Amino acid sequence: MEELKKRLLATGRELERLGLSTVGPAKGSCSVRDRHTNRVYITPSGKSYRDVGEEELVVTDLDGQLLEGSKPSVDLIFHRAIYRARPETGAVIHLHTPYATAFAILRQEIPVCMQALANTVGDAIPIAGFALPGTDELGANIVAAMKGRINAVLMANHGMVVAAPTPEEALSIAATVELAAQATIAARSIDVPTALTQEEIDGARGFYAKRFFN
Ligand SMILES: [Zn+2]
Repeated sequence: MEELKKRLLATGRELERLGLSTVGPAKGSCSVRDRHTNRVYITPSGKSYRDVGEEELVVTDLDGQLLEGSKPSVDLIFHRAIYRARPETGAVIHLHTPYATAFAILRQEIPVCMQALANTVGDAIPIAGFALPGTDELGANIVAAMKGRINAVLMANHGMVVAAPTPEEALSIAATVELAAQATIAARSIDVPTALTQEEIDGARGFYAKRFFN
């Protein structure tokens, strides 16, 4: 669907504008799923989102069968795994932002110290076990870490991945995760941060009208 292609590219370009996506091998990947047809639209590998035209987007079905375009991102395999496991998911964003990736390298979850993280994810950001890119194992590890309810995960020694109903919401969650990681690291350089209690997290989720949740 043309509108979804436009929104996918707009999201990728906004990720670049915000400095959340870089160029080259650490660019990450972005996809949307048309929930009526189950078609997945994903950015091609290698190119900056600025330089990708709508006609270059890769379209596949949920089995990975190529319908349009060529050279999908190697990340397609785990994007598909998330869409299969989470029917409400309409968009997936994967990034290698430095602060979230710092936690991923440490294999430590990002605790809910920042209220905005309670609003948008509602849980600590867990670690998905390490697996090589392009393997089914990587997708399985991400889906397992999401536990059917968490919309953001850190891929061990790799980066973050976010799932949401729309690409705009996925971008918003990804930006919040990176900011929370940055603020938590800054706080740790001063003293030991205080994490929100489960009651406080639950309260923040309710306040946000469950927009980002199932
Ligand atoms: Zn990656």
